[in-house]
Amino acid sequence: MSKPVATRHALRNIRAFRGALLRWFNANGADHPWRQTSDPYAILVSEVMLQQTTVRAVIQNRRFERFLEEFPDLNTLARAPENKLLRAWEGLGYYNRVRNLQKTARVILEKHDGEFPPEPRALESLPGIGRYTAGAVASFAFDYPAPIVEANITRLLSRLFDWWKPVATPENQNQLWSWAETLLPSRDARAFNSALMELGQSHCSPRSPRCHECPVRDFCNTRNPEKLPLKQPRRRWVEVDEHVLLVRKRNGPVLMAKEEGSRRNGLWKLPERDHDQLADFPLLATRKYGITNHKVTMYIYHCTPSQLPPPGKNTREKFHSCNALRTLPMPSPFRRALADLL
Ligand code: SF4
Repeated sequence: MSKPVATRHALRNIRAFRGALLRWFNANGADHPWRQTSDPYAILVSEVMLQQTTVRAVIQNRRFERFLEEFPDLNTLARAPENKLLRAWEGLGYYNRVRNLQKTARVILEKHDGEFPPEPRALESLPGIGRYTAGAVASFAFDYPAPIVEANITRLLSRLFDWWKPVATPENQNQLWSWAETLLPSRDARAFNSALMELGQSHCSPRSPRCHECPVRDFCNTRNPEKLPLKQPRRRWVEVDEHVLLVRKRNGPVLMAKEEGSRRNGLWKLPERDHDQLADFPLLATRKYGITNHKVTMYIYHCTPSQLPPPGKNTREKFHSCNALRTLPMPSPFRRALADLL
């Protein structure tokens, strides 16, 4: 069945468009935990968490609630030691997000008397907060009429306006923001922005849009939703090998190495060596995982403390008891590998 033809245009029938969208959202909007609060701190946590993690993963594992139980307010977050912070973020990846969250908490306490500014411009000056996050906190926490554009809204707007231009260029991004701003009502920005985003997720999905059930289908101009939005070609995957050692003292403490200066700065992982240093060591296991555009194959070798090849310069390695490993922040692939092997 082909997609229905639009009878109205969202920009020329703005009130009707907003009405159709909001009626649908008020009756069907999901009751996500971050929608049950207007606390800007909790909303910022949810937005940062959802930047590179799916709603489903955050909900299924109660990541949002668990983070707020551990760091219920700006003060707790601002004072948290790095180890505890990284451990709480484990599995969500992109650890700079939580570091910036902590920096933001400190700036708000020091420079804004502990109160979030409601204006998007002031929010955008905080560490790690871009235009989208600023608009999300302003509208969701303060009902401030600030537009938002993220992946779901980009897809929805491109289809609504049958827009055949690459969405990643700055010029075309400006067009999307301009549409989002024009469509936004001066009141009820919180519900309207949530509705746009949710419709993009639930109906206007990338591969199988549910156009016949869509509440704004009368306003939607595309006949080829599956082909929109136009995107840049995906970055190619790069295959990488990682050679690490499992070194234990008499089945007790395990040798771990602290990452410095990398994307995983501050996290602990099994110590790594060059492949040619490990030719004589028995291979215990291999694991595969992805990070950014890398497909990593991790080779885990067994090694006794006395056989340990020397580490590279500036490498910090230390034995940790099995109990200590539980609280040590580490990348998820290493956590899973240790759980299997120990
Ligand atoms: S689901 Fe998307 S493409 Fe389909 S009618 Fe709705 S807005 Fe248009």
